Amino acid sequence: MKDEDYYDVRDDRLFRYPDARRLDQSRWIAIRAAPDYLRSYAGQVALLTAANLLGRMARRVALDILPTDMVQPLPWAGEDIVGFALAQMQAADPRGEYLIRPAHDSDHIVFLGASGAPVVTHGAGWLAYTGPAPSPLPADDAANPIGAALAVIAMAAQLAAHGFDGPPAAVMLNSFDWTHEFGAPLPALPLGADLGALWAVGAGSVGTAILYFLTLATRNFSALLFDRDKVKRENITRSPVFADEDIKSDKAQVLEAYLRRCGITDMAHEPVMLHESRKWTDRASGTPDLVIAAANEHNVRHLIESLLPPVQIYGTTGRNWQASVIRHVPMVDPCSCCLFPETSYTPTGCATDPEAAPADGQQVDAALPHLSFAAGLMAAAEILKLSLPGYTMTPNRSLLYTKPELRLARAGVKLRQGCVCGARSRAVHEKMIAGSRYAALSG
Ligand SMILES: [Zn+2]
Repeated sequence: MKDEDYYDVRDDRLFRYPDARRLDQSRWIAIRAAPDYLRSYAGQVALLTAANLLGRMARRVALDILPTDMVQPLPWAGEDIVGFALAQMQAADPRGEYLIRPAHDSDHIVFLGASGAPVVTHGAGWLAYTGPAPSPLPADDAANPIGAALAVIAMAAQLAAHGFDGPPAAVMLNSFDWTHEFGAPLPALPLGADLGALWAVGAGSVGTAILYFLTLATRNFSALLFDRDKVKRENITRSPVFADEDIKSDKAQVLEAYLRRCGITDMAHEPVMLHESRKWTDRASGTPDLVIAAANEHNVRHLIESLLPPVQIYGTTGRNWQASVIRHVPMVDPCSCCLFPETSYTPTGCATDPEAAPADGQQVDAALPHLSFAAGLMAAAEILKLSLPGYTMTPNRSLLYTKPELRLARAGVKLRQGCVCGARSRAVHEKMIAGSRYAALSG
């Protein structure tokens, strides 16, 4: 296959997305980092996310980074971060040019750290900044991946929306309360939090992104992965996990193999539709602790809700350059069928928000790399926050718009009259989730 045809297939979903354009693929991106930031956990998360995401958006990326050992609690602590990041980019795009070399004047420079270049991308703790130097963020050496990864996604979102010559707008994001407010003290994430039994329904771009970001913080969970689809070339740019060699393999199996390489051992996958899985239809009460519902296969939400699920958290990508995180606590929040009625049938199996679907009902599996990463990161953030005592996301949905400018918004899902959740027995649902880790949220 000629390179041009190869990349046309690969970027097909971007071409289908409203107002989206491919970055100038002849231009090199050079990633640099402040030395102190690069030695920190947050700085390393920023570099890994930047290489992973930019390598899927651009064909030419240079790492102007000295060899540096990764630190705890990254899954690959002790390995050289530069070699690791380079190998990951090349695996995702074997035809691309990914090099370790000094930045050139003609390169588009991405600088990670609080200061050291005219424009910086910097995240720490729950906070994220991208824009003119210096970063206004307070110092924070917490082992929290969310702010650092969010800063990189914000930077990449500006590239996706405005290209290489867009204005370096200053953006501050608070991933703890999903606002642009800074200043209030924020709780520290417990190290290596035990998340319990996670069942991921959907191992596509958003599902893999959720698990990818979770594993940067903790591997202390078990996972059961449901997905019947196989990896296609046009899926590669939107998942931080899929590599070119994974094409034609089961998505759930690829994700499981990735998680095993990260050190998670208690795992299984189900390469079938959810209703075909005995593990789902015959599941015991108190199991699992959390459902990550990152799929829209036909009727999947109804199937989940009709079997009285525990807490659900997931991310979606929309058609207006936005990503969102949504939580459903049983008996407290409106359910997922309130948001996705059965009629909103999405045949593609991607976690695309039908709310933003075109009015003519045409469903196209179109999304952008930075939106899938954003949806995954936002959901990972809310899953990690479950280990903070007394915390609940209020309201139960937050959105990140990335065009025309980066903007966070909070908008709770509303209860829908006539929804399946209205007819459920509270007593039976309580019994079904009794003993699961987050049952107390249903108070
Ligand atoms: Zn409902």
